[in-house]
Amino acid sequence: MRWCRLHALPSLGLSAEPPAPVLAFHAWSERQAHVVRWLLLAAWLLLIGSLFLPDPAVATTALGLFWQVGVPLVLLVLVVLSHEAWRRLCPLAFVSQLARAIGWQRSVPDVRGRPSVARVAPAGWLARHHVRLQWGLFLAGLSLRLVLLNHSPRWLAVFLLATLAAALVVGWAWAGKAWCQYICPMAPVQSILVGPRSLLGSAAHLAGSGQITQSTCRSIGPSGQVQRACVGCQKDCIDIDAELSFWEGLRGKPGLAWAWFSYPGLVVGFLLLQRLPATQRPWAPLLLLAVAGLSVLLGRAFRAAQLRRLRPRLGAAAGQRADQITRLLASFVAVNAFFGLSEPHLVPAAAAAMPPVRMLVLAVSAVWLYRGLRRDQGHYARERISTSLRLQLQKLVPDLAHHLDGRKPEDLSADEVVTLAKVLPAQMGASRLAVYRGVVADLLRSGRLTRAAALLQLTEVRRSLQLSDDDHHTVLR
Ligand code: SF4
Repeated sequence: MRWCRLHALPSLGLSAEPPAPVLAFHAWSERQAHVVRWLLLAAWLLLIGSLFLPDPAVATTALGLFWQVGVPLVLLVLVVLSHEAWRRLCPLAFVSQLARAIGWQRSVPDVRGRPSVARVAPAGWLARHHVRLQWGLFLAGLSLRLVLLNHSPRWLAVFLLATLAAALVVGWAWAGKAWCQYICPMAPVQSILVGPRSLLGSAAHLAGSGQITQSTCRSIGPSGQVQRACVGCQKDCIDIDAELSFWEGLRGKPGLAWAWFSYPGLVVGFLLLQRLPATQRPWAPLLLLAVAGLSVLLGRAFRAAQLRRLRPRLGAAAGQRADQITRLLASFVAVNAFFGLSEPHLVPAAAAAMPPVRMLVLAVSAVWLYRGLRRDQGHYARERISTSLRLQLQKLVPDLAHHLDGRKPEDLSADEVVTLAKVLPAQMGASRLAVYRGVVADLLRSGRLTRAAALLQLTEVRRSLQLSDDDHHTVLR
C-alpha cells in the first residue's frame, strides 16, 4: 500500500478532540423547550403580578425572588450548564419572537420592490455599535437597581413590563433575534460568562452537517420535524457557535473589550454599593461608573503586561493571546466575585444554599478557565474544518479505518486529519481541488461558514492542500 505511512500517525503524539458533553442541550426536544418557555413566562408574569400586591410582605418576597434567586439562577445556568440551555428558554427572548410567530412583523421593500421582513442593516449604526448600546443599558440598569429597583416592588414591576414591551416591539421591528443580539443588556454578559464555550456546552464546530448547533434558531416544520430557522441576523452568532463568536469578538466588536474589562469591577462595585445606606444611594451610579473605569484601567494594564511577556515568543499573534488571557481571567474573577459576595438576605433558603453554590462555581469556573487558556484560534480553525476534511478523506479512501491500526477516522485529532489531507490526495492521485470543493460545500451547507468569510477562514486548509486564493474563487464559482 503506497500510503502505509498512515500507520505512523498514532505516534505523532497528537490527541483526539475532547469527547462531546454528556448533556447535549442543542439536541433537546424543541417541543419540550417550547413548553418550558411558556411555563417560565407564566411564572414571570405571576411574579410581576405579585409585585403589585398591596401586602408588603408578599411584594417584598416577590422582589427578593426576582433579584436574589431568579437572576443568580440564570447566571448559574450560564456558568455551570451552558448558554445553549438558557438562550433556548429565556422568556424575554420568547416574547421578542411573538410577532414573528403570529406573522406580523415590520416589512420594507426588498431590491425588487417586494415587501420583506426588515432586518438590522449589517453596516448600520445598530450593527456597529450594539455592544456599546447594550453596555450603556446594562450600566443604566445597575444604577437604577441601586437607586430604586432593589427596594421598590412596584417600580420593579413597571420596569419589567416596560422591558417586555420593548422586547415585543424590537421583535416586530427586525427579523431574527434582534432583541437578544442587539438590544438586550444581558447579551454581552452572556458572551463574557461563556467565553469560548461553557463547561457543558457542545462544540458546534465539530458538529456534522445538517445538525442544528447550540441555541441556533429553530422551528417545527409542517410535518413535525425540527428545522433550522436562522435568518442570519447576526454575524458570528453566539447561538450558532459560541467559540467562533469569541475568537471573532477579540478584535471585531467595538465596545466589547471595554465591557469585558469593566465587568469584574462592576460586579464587585455593585455588590458593595448595595450596602450603602438609603441617604447615600443617589451617589451609587457615579461610584459605579468610577469602579467600572478603574476595572478597565486594571484590565488594560494586565493586558499590556501580557503583551510584553508574550511578544518575544509569539510575535504578531501575541496581541490576540494577551486579549484571550485577560478576558478569560476577567470572567473568572467576575463570576466568583458575584457568587462570593452575593448575600440573598431576602430569601433564607437561597442564603443557606450559597456556600455549596460558591464551591461549585469555583470548581466549574476553574476547569473552564484551564480549558479556555489551552485553546487557540489556530487549533479551533483546524478542528472546524477537520469534520468536513475527514468526510472528504473517507470518500477518497473508503476503507480508511482499515489502515489506522484499529482507530476509527473519528478518533483522529484535527491535526492528524490536516496532516493526512496534506499527503493523501497526492498519494492517491486525486485532485486536491476536489477535496477542497467538498470541504467548502459541506461547511457552507451546514451554516458553519459564510461565503464572505470563507477565503480568510480556509487559509489553513488551502495551505495544507497547496492551493491558492484563485483556486478558492474557482471553487466558489
Ligand atoms: S443569526 Fe440565526 S441563529 Fe443567530 S440569532 Fe440570528 S436568526 Fe438566530
